[in-house]
Amino acid sequence: LDALYAERFPTSVKRYEKACKLFPSGVTHDSRYLAPFPVYIKSAKAAHKTDVDNHDLIDYWMGHGALLLGHSHPTLVAAVQGQVEVGTHWGACHELELEWAEWINKLVPSSEMVRFTSSGTESTMMALRIARLVTGKQNVIKFAGHFHGWHDSLIPAAEPPHDNGDYSQPGITQGVMSDLIISPPNDLEALSKLIDEHDPACVICEATGGRWGVVPLRKEFLLGLRKLTEEKGVLLVMDEVISGFRVHPGGVQGLYDIKADLTTLAKILAGGLPGGCVAGRADLMEALSFTNRYGKKMKHHGTFNANPLSAAAGCAMLEQVATGKPCKRASEVAKVLRREFNNLFAEKNINWAAYGDYAMFKIIPNYEGPRPESEDFLPYENDFQQVDRPIEKELSHAFRKAMLVNGLDFMGWGAMTSSAHSDKDVDQTIESFS
Ligand code: PMP
Repeated sequence: LDALYAERFPTSVKRYEKACKLFPSGVTHDSRYLAPFPVYIKSAKAAHKTDVDNHDLIDYWMGHGALLLGHSHPTLVAAVQGQVEVGTHWGACHELELEWAEWINKLVPSSEMVRFTSSGTESTMMALRIARLVTGKQNVIKFAGHFHGWHDSLIPAAEPPHDNGDYSQPGITQGVMSDLIISPPNDLEALSKLIDEHDPACVICEATGGRWGVVPLRKEFLLGLRKLTEEKGVLLVMDEVISGFRVHPGGVQGLYDIKADLTTLAKILAGGLPGGCVAGRADLMEALSFTNRYGKKMKHHGTFNANPLSAAAGCAMLEQVATGKPCKRASEVAKVLRREFNNLFAEKNINWAAYGDYAMFKIIPNYEGPRPESEDFLPYENDFQQVDRPIEKELSHAFRKAMLVNGLDFMGWGAMTSSAHSDKDVDQTIESFS
């Protein structure tokens, strides 16, 4: 496979040789690492990317989930081009940030006030600090396997634990680890005990379940989580950096009629440009106000907060999202692909399964449990320790390379779909996959 892969992408081989002298392991994002080399892209349009050797690839990364409308959607291109002409950074308040925040308040049920950041990582960092300031408490509960960006407070337990059950990460202090309490997903009883024991400032969850749903969070669990946190007087932070505007115009909260206390958003929010925010209850967001009921202000800076280019793209994107059409189409695409992949696995008698909800899917290889159509389907039996089983680790790079050779760019074991994926793209994907 490696020989075939290198033969197909010779210019990428050369680019990666150079990259290895410039970047550690030759990459600028851990997820873009692929041994023995990743594929270099030079352009993209709708659901397709073109690599430096001029192959057409159907894209299932969609800008790490940011491109709900596909690559270079004409409306977004026009919005950004128009903005470049009149300024990329005014170092000032501007009207577009007002419009952008109004879209968020309109779409996200729990949003009363907004503060813009430059990324999802910054947003979850901000949400924790707000929660700590307003409650005066230190501890935070997160779920095993949930990814909230790479900052110190939440990167531990994004990966399965070490053999001794320890979730620590190199470079993270013991102080940070002692403030972070890790709860198993989909287990309200365990969470309830941990809340009683540790009296946290907040509980944070990835709204779809860890790593966009490797171990999905059930609707009943999410409803129970809201009820439990409310009863115990603990703030609930829903990280909708991926699910926001993807699973539903109102995110998971809009879908299930849940209101978090604070919500973190990014990716689709900024229309494919850098940007994020915390949105939430006005009394909590007041932590950022210069005079507030808490008598102390949370400091917050950021050169690119509410950057006019991101705001222009974000407003154009959210206007499209508000119609409901992009989520619907992207979800349909994912649904068809899940169904067809599962048919294919059954036909070929392979014990793999495609699963997931809405505008994304995951593939689990070598899976012996109930099929995804069954009510009992819960991959990894809720045991996060099984995620990244050695067999999958070995297979995952081979899988990605095999897909690339066949003209498909998968995001690890899964995919983000967009409203730009046409029926033809779907048919071609299934054909290439088989
Ligand atoms: N939260 C979730 C749920 C995410 O998926 C991500 C990024 N994949 C982040 C936070 C971090 O966002 P960013 O990459 O913009 O820092």
